[in-house]
Amino acid sequence: MSAGIEAQRLRLVRIAQAGELNVRRTLRLADGELDTLATCTDSEVLAYAHALHARATRRAGHVPAGWTQASRCDGCGPVWLWPDAPERVIACPWCWNRVAGAPVPSPLDAF
Ligand SMILES: [Zn+2]
Repeated sequence: MSAGIEAQRLRLVRIAQAGELNVRRTLRLADGELDTLATCTDSEVLAYAHALHARATRRAGHVPAGWTQASRCDGCGPVWLWPDAPERVIACPWCWNRVAGAPVPSPLDAF
């Protein structure tokens, strides 16, 4: 591992800890992308880490924490999205699951 990548790994550890994210999971999810963090601010790295966790949660078929907006996707139908998301969208992050045959949680299942 190069010194630059190791520096970014240690930086991601520090930022994930400060953001109360699971550090091991964060590092696993960021594997192979550490070299891209050098030009990012700390707040961008924290947003990136949160996005990694949200993406992994979605890919596993679970609704990310805080995604409480029931919306309608033209591809998926009723879906959970983030607060203030449009009520109707042409496509959504759950489309990746639908196309891959992975679970797409529906707000209709909550009732
Ligand atoms: Zn969709």
